[in-house]
Amino acid sequence: MDDATVLAYELTWPEYDRRMRDGRTPLIVPIGALEQHGHHMPMHVDVLLPNEFAQRVARRTGALVAQPFTYGYKSHPKSGGGNHLPGTTSLDGATLVNALKDVIKEFARHGVRNIALMNGHFENSWFIIEGVDIALRELRWDGVRDVKIVVLSYWDFVNDETIEKLYPEGFTGWDLEHGGVLETSLMLVLFPHLVWMDKAIGHPPASFPPYDVYPVRPEWVPASGTLSSPKNATREKGEILLQVCTDGIVRALNEEFADPPN
Ligand code: ZN
Ligand code: MN
Repeated sequence: MDDATVLAYELTWPEYDRRMRDGRTPLIVPIGALEQHGHHMPMHVDVLLPNEFAQRVARRTGALVAQPFTYGYKSHPKSGGGNHLPGTTSLDGATLVNALKDVIKEFARHGVRNIALMNGHFENSWFIIEGVDIALRELRWDGVRDVKIVVLSYWDFVNDETIEKLYPEGFTGWDLEHGGVLETSLMLVLFPHLVWMDKAIGHPPASFPPYDVYPVRPEWVPASGTLSSPKNATREKGEILLQVCTDGIVRALNEEFADPPN
């Protein structure tokens, strides 16, 4: 099974059916966004990273990986630079909620009972939960009550000890990490051909007032599009992050999906 694909959509339908019908094989769904990531990285970072974590976790847990969601909810100035930036191409919240709800119900229709939603884009968070809530409600109306869904964002598995090691100059929080050390270091390990460190722009972490204004104020956002400097990103930090997050997610899914669905 080691060299077999973990990508559910690479299977033939009879093989997919065989793996999924009894509900025991977990399915991991990466959820990303199309969003600018500064001058030094491409716009599909939020798809690439959860998709890669999903595949690594799947190889260690016997799960399969579904096709990723490649568009996500709108970028917010305080966590993604903002939706006004060129290239950032987003869904309305209701669109994401409905698409996610539809896909969860489709997976369940074919027998999937253990689903992990692997988020790679901060702003998706509450819309993912809403999609899950509505999907589970509608499945209950159809008498399906044994679907279990784990919702996670990979960066939440970085523990305090790792944060101290990676951010000796002080940690500004995950929201300001957009295009910063976390994502850039992981990209340097996983997709080095898609990182151009010579184009990375250094600047102090963005600081925002404790309120929001709409229409958004583009001048609140660093002109680079990143919210903290990627300059301190390294391959070594990426290796640490990759290991800590993958191990943590494997542990979580093994625990949550240990029992067969009842
Ligand atoms: Zn990102
Ligand atoms: Mn993002």
